[in-house]
Amino acid sequence: MEKLLTPATLGLLAAVALLAYLVTRRGFFATTATFAASENNDSEWPLVWVRPGSWPCLASPNRRVRVYWEPPVAETVAQAVLTAATRVDEILDEVFPRLRRPRLRLTLLADCHHPRQRVAMTGFGLHAMVDTADQEAWLASHRAREFLFSAVPHEWVEAAVALRLYWRDRKTRWVGEGAADYAAYRVGLALAPEVARARLAILAERLGPVTGTECFDLTDFRVATQAQPGKPTEAQRRARRGYAVSFALFYWLAERRGPAEVARLLAQAMGGSWPTGARARRAFERALGSDGPALTAVPLAWVAERLQEATRALPAHP
Ligand SMILES: [Zn+2]
Repeated sequence: MEKLLTPATLGLLAAVALLAYLVTRRGFFATTATFAASENNDSEWPLVWVRPGSWPCLASPNRRVRVYWEPPVAETVAQAVLTAATRVDEILDEVFPRLRRPRLRLTLLADCHHPRQRVAMTGFGLHAMVDTADQEAWLASHRAREFLFSAVPHEWVEAAVALRLYWRDRKTRWVGEGAADYAAYRVGLALAPEVARARLAILAERLGPVTGTECFDLTDFRVATQAQPGKPTEAQRRARRGYAVSFALFYWLAERRGPAEVARLLAQAMGGSWPTGARARRAFERALGSDGPALTAVPLAWVAERLQEATRALPAHP
């Protein structure tokens, strides 16, 4: 026993512990808690941690989706959310068949308890706050549909990319955001065109007014730190554009080269024992060819056109 506790073993143990701490701190294995919390940023209520482990739970047949709900949120609502998320899971499998997504835990919080909550849970998850005064109306609301058909597919796909790419190379954000918004677009196209339309409007707004021949360097797309209330800074404005540019690139590739090619490229970008931004860049640059834009200089006018094309491709509002 004593021989095992050499300075070298202790050093190794400390390094492993530090690595585990850093990875957890970066939020890849922690529950994402932005949805409900960000809506109540100006709330005077204290932040409350909730642990849904003891709450009722429903799981999809393949166990990849679990829905926890906090009474008085109704089981029927949880069931409807599970059905929707299971459908999202199936579509994401079609869009990116080789992408290994983590299991998803959805938590439905009752808004009547604490207006500002964070969910304490291991694994990947998202939470929504249910309007308990009229749960059926909440389920049909744009907010709930946006959560299910935009936020869930986006974060689920991005979590898979982040786990493999982001922490190895920070200059791969465009891969994750592009894949995430493209996947969410495909989900919207199939299940909720109005949600996809709203998301495209947000991307167009983030792109901002396009003038002249201005270009965007995707390989330098970094998300600006914590959005401040009020007017965004120049760095934040630039960073927000990255979402629109990333989506436009994936959309264009799917349209011109076919959706299967996009799936293949993502798998290639994330493949190998140590994926890097340079590797992802090479894969996509080859596919963009001479008729596509350069990753380091995507014209903003080109991006605006793609957003308009994607919007026109959506079925008209029923
Ligand atoms: Zn994202």
